[in-house]
Amino acid sequence: MKTVTERIRQDAEKFTPEEDQALRLGGEIIRGGGLVAFPTETVYGLGGDALNRESARKIYAAKGRPSDNPLIVHISRFEDIGKIVSEVPENAVRLADAFWPGPLTMILKKAACVPKEVTGGLDTVAVRLPASAAARKLIEYSGGYVAAPSANRSGRPSPTLARYVQEDMDGRVEMILDGGQVGIGLESTIVDLTVSPPQILRPGYVTEEMLEQVLEGVDMDAALLNEDSGQAPKAPGMKYRHYAPKGELVVVEGSSDRVAEYINRAAEADRHAGEKTGVLGSRELLAEYRADVIKCVGSRGDEESIARNLFAVLREFDEEGVTKIYSESFSSPGLGQAIMNRLLKAAGHRVIRV
Ligand code: AMP
Ligand code: MG
Repeated sequence: MKTVTERIRQDAEKFTPEEDQALRLGGEIIRGGGLVAFPTETVYGLGGDALNRESARKIYAAKGRPSDNPLIVHISRFEDIGKIVSEVPENAVRLADAFWPGPLTMILKKAACVPKEVTGGLDTVAVRLPASAAARKLIEYSGGYVAAPSANRSGRPSPTLARYVQEDMDGRVEMILDGGQVGIGLESTIVDLTVSPPQILRPGYVTEEMLEQVLEGVDMDAALLNEDSGQAPKAPGMKYRHYAPKGELVVVEGSSDRVAEYINRAAEADRHAGEKTGVLGSRELLAEYRADVIKCVGSRGDEESIARNLFAVLREFDEEGVTKIYSESFSSPGLGQAIMNRLLKAAGHRVIRV
């Protein structure tokens, strides 16, 4: 399959005739049962018709994703939700008012028209209304319902640039819409509204504190709080090793002096053992490190910069052939929860406390 790439802006008030044509063409491809990768404010998505079971099969095949891992259905207008869910609870309306369009996915009871291939056999469906104007236009041109997991091969870091989509999906999708770097860089927060109180299944840009301001109460999936427990997470996708670079990643936790000292010593020993070593660090500590490749993931004073750069930096270590990567730890409340969730998964939960 030949993959066509078209450039668009993610957030134009009004698209140029060329952009509009690219988005229309993308819509036609999806209506016809094909796949189009496109930018959203979180990460790039791999879109297919959410009401077509064949399209869902193609998405799983293109990603190499296990088919028990359900897909998020993207809509372009809140009114469209009624067709794919069996009931719209009050909490869904409140959350939509507060956070849609935006990086929040809601789990609701599904309507019969949503094929079980899309929901991984579950009787619930994940729904999101993305903020990116290009994404919403594409969804509208596609008929209104686009199933779109992240546009990476299963297990790889989610793509935050079209270049990474190309790397993973060239020849596997009909079209890639290149909208440059995405704004947030981590996948959406997932909240399950089919249980009471609602439960966060995946932390993201919309934090627990933000949800608590809108919902009467909200829980965190216990498997997320204690990921080493072996307890199965409720979002099927969260159980897979994920986001992983090819090199071995280790997270080092402790005071900044000790972290730098440990990393420098370990990296030196690794280098003697023939490894190509890397450090994933914050701007504040970068000058302290010695390794073959040292990468700045962002500033501790600006967590959003860390979220935005994390997946790209993990891929850059691969591009440079780094075999052993040490990372600082970024645990903190708020956005730090989402950052650490992805980083620990990428590290296969290898953490060293110093
Ligand atoms: P991705 O779109 O690749 O970011 O992954 C979608 C995530 O949403 C995966 O972790 C899925 O397991 C999760 N998900 C999708 N649908 C459901 C559902 N009905 N119930 C629980 N989790 C879901
Ligand atoms: Mg994904």
